Amino acid sequence: MITISEAIRLIKHTASPLLKDRIKPLIDSEGYELYRDVHSPIHMPPFRQSAMDGYALNLHAHLDYTLIGEIKAGDGHRVHLEPGEAVRIFTGAAVPETGNAVVMQEKVTINGTKITLDETPLENHNIRPLGAQVKKGDVALKKGTKLRPAAIGYLTSLGITKVSVFKKPRIAIVSTGNELIKAGHSLPHGKIYESNSAMLQNALMNLKFDDISLHSVEDTYEPTRDLLKLVMSTNDLVIITGGISVGDYDFVGKALTELKIVEHFYKVKQKPGKPLLFGQKENTLLFALPGNPAAALTCFYIYVYIAVQKMMNKGTLELPRISAQSNSSFIKKGERPQFLKAIYTENKVEILEGQSSAMLQTFAVSNALVFLPEDVSKININDWVETILLPV
Ligand code: AMP
Ligand code: MG
Repeated sequence: MITISEAIRLIKHTASPLLKDRIKPLIDSEGYELYRDVHSPIHMPPFRQSAMDGYALNLHAHLDYTLIGEIKAGDGHRVHLEPGEAVRIFTGAAVPETGNAVVMQEKVTINGTKITLDETPLENHNIRPLGAQVKKGDVALKKGTKLRPAAIGYLTSLGITKVSVFKKPRIAIVSTGNELIKAGHSLPHGKIYESNSAMLQNALMNLKFDDISLHSVEDTYEPTRDLLKLVMSTNDLVIITGGISVGDYDFVGKALTELKIVEHFYKVKQKPGKPLLFGQKENTLLFALPGNPAAALTCFYIYVYIAVQKMMNKGTLELPRISAQSNSSFIKKGERPQFLKAIYTENKVEILEGQSSAMLQTFAVSNALVFLPEDVSKININDWVETILLPV
């Protein structure tokens, strides 16, 4: 049995960034990071663009200009302006090649086909230059840029439809247990609805992972071994729940031994989640989490979270920990450090009733875990406690 900090250290040391690329439709790439620099295929703007509704001019020495036509946004016809000539123009329209300023319509007096300016504009005023945002062939966005809505809009404005992004890990979730029934079916006596995979899948989706497959197996040795062999060979990360304790029908440990998984640790001195295993086969990482749902989710946030952040090359690997004042008292039974389901609001934290590792009801309304170290056996009201903030 190892300590929590040693387990965390081993995960940080073992997990490594995937650093593989994947081509994705730009429209589906939100949250991904660019694998390589993106060069612009066009100048943006692709032509000299009017920034105003007004008049494009070929400047001359007087304030009077002759109006010779109109250019709307989207018009493709080319107008030639001689000095002293103007064209009615609208925002986003192409400025004539010889146009060298646009004046706002508010600063012009119209008199038939003549216009008179209030004052002479500066050269190139209200004209967005060709390639002002980016020039054709230049780097539009750098490798590593996170694709947020604005970045997706920007690349779309360059006509780009596909991007090379850092691949996210391919993750398999395996639930084990004879007692498990899929929700939506009737519940025979002795059975329970399988909930760990829905919970872990959503915890991963919340972190923007999207290549997730779900698997289940009964408590029988060979099918467990064969399924684990298959998922270990086709995923970057495998998360198993249940079957890792010492019961007569817990076959995960035996299967992993036969599959020659490198075991980095098994059993962590903590509550909940003591029977936690972390291992590896070639480049595939593996966590076997306890079956009890609250224990499984706690282990996910404290341990699996670190591995997936590292695989994504993130700088911050752990969930934020802050100090908060407890609204409740708590007495710890036994020595093991404990993670307690809690609600955090503005520097105060309430430790909830119902800390059993089998109970999701409490976890369902929690947004934090209070950490009680080994040497602390009691929390009094108003004590400052270490509080781990869960992802929102
Ligand atoms: P185990 O770790 O397999 O001994 O399971 C511990 C407890 O968690 C048992 O009460 C199981 O029925 C329950 N359990 C295991 N896997 C799941 C699951 N996928 N969904 C809901 N409960 C589970
Ligand atoms: Mg079981």
